[in-house]
Amino acid sequence: MANIIKCRGFVLKTAPFKESSLLASVLTNKLGKVKLLAKGVRRPKSKMCGALEPFSLDEIIFYKREFKDIYTLSDAVIVDGYPEVRGDPHKVSGAMVLCEYFDKTLPTEERDTAAFSGFYRFLRNLRRVNSAGVRALVVGHLIKALSASGVMPHLDNCVLCHVPLSDGNGKVDFSVSAGGVVCSKHHDDTVVLLSRQTIYALRNIYGKSDAAINDEALREIEVFMADYMYVHLNHLNLHSLKHFK
Ligand SMILES: [Zn+2]
Repeated sequence: MANIIKCRGFVLKTAPFKESSLLASVLTNKLGKVKLLAKGVRRPKSKMCGALEPFSLDEIIFYKREFKDIYTLSDAVIVDGYPEVRGDPHKVSGAMVLCEYFDKTLPTEERDTAAFSGFYRFLRNLRRVNSAGVRALVVGHLIKALSASGVMPHLDNCVLCHVPLSDGNGKVDFSVSAGGVVCSKHHDDTVVLLSRQTIYALRNIYGKSDAAINDEALREIEVFMADYMYVHLNHLNLHSLKHFK
């Protein structure tokens, strides 16, 4: 028994399959992430040619059959190809970071409206931002995505004993392995120092939908972010983040 599914989805990743086909990972609004086989799409005359570029928002149709983890894509039409993003290589590498994050962290076929709307907001902001702001935008949305993945850093008091941390102007110890700020008793060898400003910036990211990060906070967040994701997201290693300068 096959159900016809018509929905919207962001292309997260594609890989060549056989001579003329593509395997695509797509973040849909109805079913979360799905794996789709686009048969013959690499032939120049394919009607879906061009619709399967990473981060394109498409209207897609596929047939969902039980006991399958890959479905055959029947049609894909571009709703928004984000030309303003695609025309700027720096923005493209930023978009690829979020594509890789969602492709690697989202479970297959679990509806996740937070991920879909987060990705939508990210691309809407990315098309508007100037080049100098791309990095802060990407890092901000990546940090926000951590909360959707259930692994947001603990920032209010010591993550291990919950004693309040002194509210001075000095730096705060942030333990990458413990997943949040720590008191002096729970200091460990994965601790990095964060300024109060960075803690406020991180809280803002979780509080508001699109809070900005200033340069100092950005630098400090980037020191621990890759290690943090590796420890708390099952050894997640984002190759696109390394190439995103
Ligand atoms: Zn403690």
